[in-house]
Amino acid sequence: MFAIIAILPFLLVFQFWVLFASPLDVQVSSNTNSTLSIESSFTPVLPPRFITQSHTSGSLRGSVLLYNGKIHTIGPSNLVVSILAVRDGYIAYTGDDLPEAERTLSQSSSPVRKINLRRRVAVPGLIDCHNHIVLLGNRPGYHTPLELSLSVADVKATYQQRAKGVPKDGWITTIGGFSPNQLKEQRLPTLEELDSAVNDNPIFISTSFSGPATTNTKGREILEREASVVIATNGSIASGLENGKALLWLRQSLLGFEERKRSVRSAMEYAASVGVTTHLDQGAFSATNTSSDGAASEDLYTFHLPWLSVYNDLDGIIRLRINFLHDDTTTENPTLVERLRNTFPFFGNDMMRTGAIGEFAVGIADYAGGPVFEAAALKIAKAGWRLEVHALGENDLKTQLEGFEKVDAEVSIKNLRWVVAHVPRISTDSLRRLKALGAGVNVSGWLYLSGTGNTTNPAGPPFRRILDSGIRGGFGPDGANIAPLSPWPHAYYAITGKNAKGEVINPGQSISRQEVLELFTKHNTWFLGGPDEHSLGILETGRLGDVAVLSEDYFTIPEERIRQLRSVLTVVGGVVVWDSGEI
Ligand SMILES: [Zn+2]
Repeated sequence: MFAIIAILPFLLVFQFWVLFASPLDVQVSSNTNSTLSIESSFTPVLPPRFITQSHTSGSLRGSVLLYNGKIHTIGPSNLVVSILAVRDGYIAYTGDDLPEAERTLSQSSSPVRKINLRRRVAVPGLIDCHNHIVLLGNRPGYHTPLELSLSVADVKATYQQRAKGVPKDGWITTIGGFSPNQLKEQRLPTLEELDSAVNDNPIFISTSFSGPATTNTKGREILEREASVVIATNGSIASGLENGKALLWLRQSLLGFEERKRSVRSAMEYAASVGVTTHLDQGAFSATNTSSDGAASEDLYTFHLPWLSVYNDLDGIIRLRINFLHDDTTTENPTLVERLRNTFPFFGNDMMRTGAIGEFAVGIADYAGGPVFEAAALKIAKAGWRLEVHALGENDLKTQLEGFEKVDAEVSIKNLRWVVAHVPRISTDSLRRLKALGAGVNVSGWLYLSGTGNTTNPAGPPFRRILDSGIRGGFGPDGANIAPLSPWPHAYYAITGKNAKGEVINPGQSISRQEVLELFTKHNTWFLGGPDEHSLGILETGRLGDVAVLSEDYFTIPEERIRQLRSVLTVVGGVVVWDSGEI
């Protein structure tokens, strides 16, 4: 399985500038002939080509004709068509008239790739309005998602396959995104089982933020010797401190800048393989560089750099939007103030663009409202920025909402699209008040992995109640650490109310397959904001040509198979960025 990127014209432009640009007097050229001159009197820390990033030449602009498909446009009339043509990055035709589609492509300036979809279902490239993919692109080792595994045998097969592309002695790792609850055996694989799958490579498999974890013989030898990790004879590593010691050693030993870039490319490829073409990242917790750091800890000021560098190499294959997380602890909100002064919101190109503040505006001790939170929120409102906050219960949401209302009384936030994320317990009254503030909510199916609930106490989120309220709603899985990045386990949860063990934990709040898909496409564009709202999410003429062709018919397969859906062909801007080889 491999990804194909057809960006030769851009590479040629790029190579020209690598050859001729001087690091101290850099000219940035784009393929639109605009020229921007940057004069610099300092020696950049990053390679010179990093600062030569053009904000147009990195975009994917290909031409493709997809025909003989069942292509769900998710437009106003929910049209299903058999043909979609993308010309130089943008959708030029949707319908059923092949000669007409070919005519629209005759003016294409890039070569047209024609692909017979063999009656497969295709949908707009999915949008994830809340995840942590930037963290996923900073994982130590050859990271290997286990989100689709349903048994220890699946884990072993995935690792065996992965080992074929990893150098001898290279670490194969999985950090977060899955739970033993999804495996038939309801436990992590043992050292013996992992040894029987992979011999030449050390393994580290860790769940959620901070374990527990498991390893094989080779991994155990290294982690015991180098990091004094306490490891049981069956390979298991306790959550918390022991997991943290192993993770810290892996990060400090393995993560150079080039390794991070490899991890970025791997995260991008995985995202494309599950059909998610646009991601709004919501940051990380500030790393302490001690064994108390978990899967979600990173350096907030450097962990985007390998991503920017991959985009600068013109190797970006998915669209990234970046929210900035702040964790100040005083009402002066010092880092937030600097951010609002010195960063451009919604700046970049259609591949990578800054967003706004989220999913925390202040440190974890103050996130749920109160003076530090309200001081931050007021500053954000005055700056005219969007804000997204994380809420997990009725109490944190209640005080956050009071904070929003207080700020709004002073500076209107009604057009700023403030957002509350996760909301497992949101009431009809809170929805009404948020709606009155012009705010939105985004939901996740993270409780699929380990949630519990019943008729009297459903796990949430109340999908049905949220949709029926008429508030702006989006789907933001919160993937990479505590939840899968793949949208499909989340879709399964929203549709069935069932957790990974098959127990119904969210009764009465199910929504339809069509509703889930609309949240992941056209409704999520509101959460991206900026130019994305009118250029993504729907397959209609003039929008960017992002499409996912699915492994099975999402609309008709048995519910149990929804969580394992994949993309067999993913197109971004008319360029095939993922091809599983199945069509
Ligand atoms: Zn999150």
